[in-house]
Amino acid sequence: MSISELEALACDHCGATIRARVFTSVNAERHPHLRDEILARRFHVFACPTCGQDTLVDGKVLYLDLGRRQLLGVYPRDRMADAATAAQEVFETWQESFVEGPPPTRPLAKRMLVRVCFGLEELREKLVIDAAGLVDLYVEALKAGLLAGDPRFAALQVTGLSLDAVTPEGALRFIPLGLGRATDGKVPLIEIPEKAYAEMAGRRGELLAAKPCLASGPHVSVARLVLAAEG
Ligand SMILES: [Zn+2]
Repeated sequence: MSISELEALACDHCGATIRARVFTSVNAERHPHLRDEILARRFHVFACPTCGQDTLVDGKVLYLDLGRRQLLGVYPRDRMADAATAAQEVFETWQESFVEGPPPTRPLAKRMLVRVCFGLEELREKLVIDAAGLVDLYVEALKAGLLAGDPRFAALQVTGLSLDAVTPEGALRFIPLGLGRATDGKVPLIEIPEKAYAEMAGRRGELLAAKPCLASGPHVSVARLVLAAEG
């Protein structure tokens, strides 16, 4: 089941009231159009009837896709400061609903993608990574290398990268993020050949030893390196 409520939001731009259907839970198998909206970056984006500009709702959403074996807990981006609590909540949901859930759902617990995400762009990225048959840990390691290796990112206030798509040639195409959202095209897209991903995947053990902060339970993100640096 997908659960939503009609809410009255204030437009981010002019403050006018927007009536919007806001979801707290998405069942992507039953409602594939919601997954399509997430991939199109239109989910929880509402046009203001007064000024016409978009307002994005950065809320808490439980995303479930039984067909693809995905359970993703999405939290507002400002909850990242307390990522461990959010990760624990997602872990407990997985445990209660699948590991110790009703007998028919228990076999699903294995090989399930269980992740915590902060913001809808991160949810979208996890879906893109999984659909392409990639592993997010290696993608995050690639991003860490890219961000650290090019001082222009810092100069342009790029705070992260998000896997936008895998090209027909197998290259990984990243969009730069400023404060967790796609930047407005000032910073060009970055394409990394498939070979670089394959090399990273071959270094799994070394990666976890060198950058153990990249992954902890269901929280797999380059942002963890920032959290670790801030103590
Ligand atoms: Zn408005």
